Amino acid sequence: MGAKGWFILKFLMFQGLFISPPQPQADFDFFYLVLQWPGAYCDTKRTCCYPTSGKPAADFGIHGLWPNYKDGSWPSNCDPDSEFDRSQISDLVSRLKRNWPTLACPSNDGFKFWEYEWGKHGTCSESVLSLHAYFDTTLRLKDQANLLQTLTDSGIKPDDGFYDLQKISDAIKDAIGFTPGIQCNKDPERNDQLHQIFLCVDTSGANFIECPILPRGRCPSQVQFAMF
Ligand code: AMP
Repeated sequence: MGAKGWFILKFLMFQGLFISPPQPQADFDFFYLVLQWPGAYCDTKRTCCYPTSGKPAADFGIHGLWPNYKDGSWPSNCDPDSEFDRSQISDLVSRLKRNWPTLACPSNDGFKFWEYEWGKHGTCSESVLSLHAYFDTTLRLKDQANLLQTLTDSGIKPDDGFYDLQKISDAIKDAIGFTPGIQCNKDPERNDQLHQIFLCVDTSGANFIECPILPRGRCPSQVQFAMF
């Protein structure tokens, strides 16, 4: 490159420093926002326990916000030294209790599940989201997704009825703009039921995007939407 070329390159780099604020560089490709139907988590051979605050609302709950790679693999437990400091999320606790309910046994107040998700997944997106931002962002995305409303508006209700998988997927795609990943599990009678919905989110945590890769779902063409 000649002197003129160098000058132009240096000028552009210098401008870049001042014009665009530095963006944090993510060391993963996208997030999965994983939302869970509590009726399906509980309606298995393993059963479940309600949180100490009582039975959660009949709504999708958050399972987690998971950094992922485009090839389908994902990082986990990225920073064992990171402390899960409850005081940093004290302003979010009532929303977490409502929207990110623990269903594990024995019953507990939910911190164990949130700490587990932070340690396994949240510490892998520390390059872009602090502890507080991780939980705040996840809560906001769950509201933005508004899944139950979208499904009931399309006549798909948690009434133990069986619904077309394609219709579930289309209803979500029409509302959010992107195809969801759908996972099923089996109830004790071996019926396949709607268990988790995966929505993809860009690395800033701000926008839903088309999934670079969909998770394996194990759903047949008709699935039950369990009562809760
Ligand atoms: P992950 O490792 O993030 O894929 O989460 C899987 C673990 O989370 C498993 O041990 C699940 O049993 C547990 N899990 C999933 N949903 C819930 C829930 N609503 N409450 C408590 N634990 C859960």
